[in-house]
Parts: sequence; C-alpha cells; structure tokens
Amino acid sequence: MAREVLGLGKQLAAEATCPLCLDLFAQPVLTACGHSFCGQCLEGVLGDPPRRAACPQCRAAVEPGSLRPNRSLGAMAGLARALEEVAARPLCPEHGELLALFCEPCAAPLCALCRDGPGHRQHRVRPADEAARELRVRGGAATGAGEGLGAFAGRGGVAEGHRLASPPANPKVEEKLLKAPK
Ligand SMILES: [Zn+2]
Ligand SMILES: [Zn+2]
Ligand SMILES: [Zn+2]
Ligand SMILES: [Zn+2]
Repeated sequence: MAREVLGLGKQLAAEATCPLCLDLFAQPVLTACGHSFCGQCLEGVLGDPPRRAACPQCRAAVEPGSLRPNRSLGAMAGLARALEEVAARPLCPEHGELLALFCEPCAAPLCALCRDGPGHRQHRVRPADEAARELRVRGGAATGAGEGLGAFAGRGGVAEGHRLASPPANPKVEEKLLKAPK
C-alpha cells in the first residue's frame, strides 16, 4: 500500500518537474503556447530586460507580457515535494510500511502493523515526528532520526519508573549530553 502511494508520488514529481532546471517547479508560469517553467528559469530565457524569445519546449514565440502564473502547477509541485519527504523516510523492513510511529519502552521506530502485533500492543506508542520534535525542543543533538529518537527514549518520561531507583541525574552530565557534538 505505502509503496504504491510512493510510486504515485514519483509520477507526480515527474509531472511537476521544470524542463529547464529539472527540479520541482518553483512559482511556475504558463506561456501562451501552454508550456510551464519556473518563473526564474523563464526569466533567464527572456533575458534582462525581458525580450521575446523562443519557448524552450516548442520554439513558439514567448512574449514577456503574456505569461501567467500557473498556481495549480505550483501547488502540485508543493505536494510532490511533501511526498518526496515522506518517501525519504525509512520503511519497516518487516512490513514495508512507513516507520511513522515510535515505541517508547522499546526505543524503536515502528510501522502501523508492528504496533498492532503482539510485541508492542501493551506499549506506549506515539507518532515518530512528535517524538522527534520533542527531542529537538529539549535541545537534544539529533544527528539521525533513529539515533535521535533512541536518545529521546533514554531520557524520556517512560523511563521515569526506573529512574526512581537510580540516583538523581547529574546536572553536569545532563548538560554535556544536551550539547551537540562539534
Ligand atoms: Zn525551473
Ligand atoms: Zn511552448
Ligand atoms: Zn512493521
Ligand atoms: Zn514496544
């Protein structure tokens, strides 16, 4: 399921890619001949001051005054960008679903199917980005998502029970832990 959505995301990204910079459209404009380019990319084609030029796609004449913003394409590029971010997130090696959850007692990233399995049913599970955000707010040095979340769970509220038995945290050590390594 997740894989299919990511495949659609790739197609969407291809549709939302500027033929000039080969990146996702940024503030795309539509020419009279029906082609779209990033505003900046087409500015580069028209020159400064802008003059009539040939459309990079079909060679039809493009008049500087005839351009219109292509807002729906810009929105599509934004969507493709968001999906690419999701695609960059790791998938569960067991189920192939997004590791969008984080099990606090296990200090492990989980997918939705992992959570419903017998291993974590009794565990406190939260959205992974929420856990990561909390870590960032606390000033933790999150180098990678997995590492950062692990560090978060080590100091997190769920460990409170064990903490009662252990001596109070040394504030100096705490301070060192919170400082990002150079
Ligand atoms: Zn472009
Ligand atoms: Zn054209
Ligand atoms: Zn899983
Ligand atoms: Zn668990």
